[in-house]
Amino acid sequence: MSIAFLDGDYMPIEQAKISPLDRGFLFGDGIYEVVPSYAGKMVGFAPHIARMKSGLEAIGIQLNWSTEDWAELCNRLIAENGAGNLGLYLHVSRGTDTKRFHAFPENIAPTVFAFSFEIAPAPIADKSSVKAKKASTARDLRWERCQIKSTALLGNVLHFQQGYEQGSDETLLFNADNQLTEASACNVFIVKDGIVITPLLDNQKLPGITRQIILDVLRKDAQIAVEERIVSMDEVANADEVWITSSSKEIAPITEIDGKPVGDGSIGDIWLAVQTLYSAAKFDY
Ligand code: PLP
Repeated sequence: MSIAFLDGDYMPIEQAKISPLDRGFLFGDGIYEVVPSYAGKMVGFAPHIARMKSGLEAIGIQLNWSTEDWAELCNRLIAENGAGNLGLYLHVSRGTDTKRFHAFPENIAPTVFAFSFEIAPAPIADKSSVKAKKASTARDLRWERCQIKSTALLGNVLHFQQGYEQGSDETLLFNADNQLTEASACNVFIVKDGIVITPLLDNQKLPGITRQIILDVLRKDAQIAVEERIVSMDEVANADEVWITSSSKEIAPITEIDGKPVGDGSIGDIWLAVQTLYSAAKFDY
């Protein structure tokens, strides 16, 4: 049984209850994070908490939690739930109101909820053991503040479902100018002629922590060229490699998009090189 945290108490997840007047439930009015942890060691704890704090500030939720408070919560969840492969889900909603009214209520305490769930073992940098994934494509129909890791994920859920119903693992999203934004729950990278390329950050994408670590590791290693810039739909269609990245997947190679092979349809050498670097460095973040 999984042990969860809700508003100061630890309890079996089945016993965790919130009010239906919680604004997270009524409006998706909240911010969340998922921090991966393997054998008790977290990846990217500090940048995840920094992103959560900036998301809370962006939507005006005041929560007086320090980074140390979050560390204590995460370590307790790991201690309670076994040190396997865990996703630590951290969620803060604006809190519970006495009515349903759009304006922010005054003087209510944010709801803090956290639990852990099992994630797949971290990918090994080995072409024969990693599972290649398929993707679909769609016009990005989400809102214009995708840099905020909001709990209001209906747009993402609908895009994920679009691909899922076509037998895909993810949906790659393009804006009205046919530029790649991200995927429904991942950032996206392409490789062309040995160069690793990913869309520049702006309000159309979540600033992924995995993306950030990959870029940092590559720049420190300085062996493979990296570019952050606009990526067109044609470039995705003609890429040698395409990857999706997220905290629970790390770097996942896509070998088929809309039924067509990516490059020669096999997992690429640059994926292998970058996943090797990532695996070696990830616990330093
Ligand atoms: N983009 C979206 C829309 C996401 O939901 C996620 C992860 O949940 C990502 C990108 C990847 O972010 P991270 O690497 O921080 O997990």
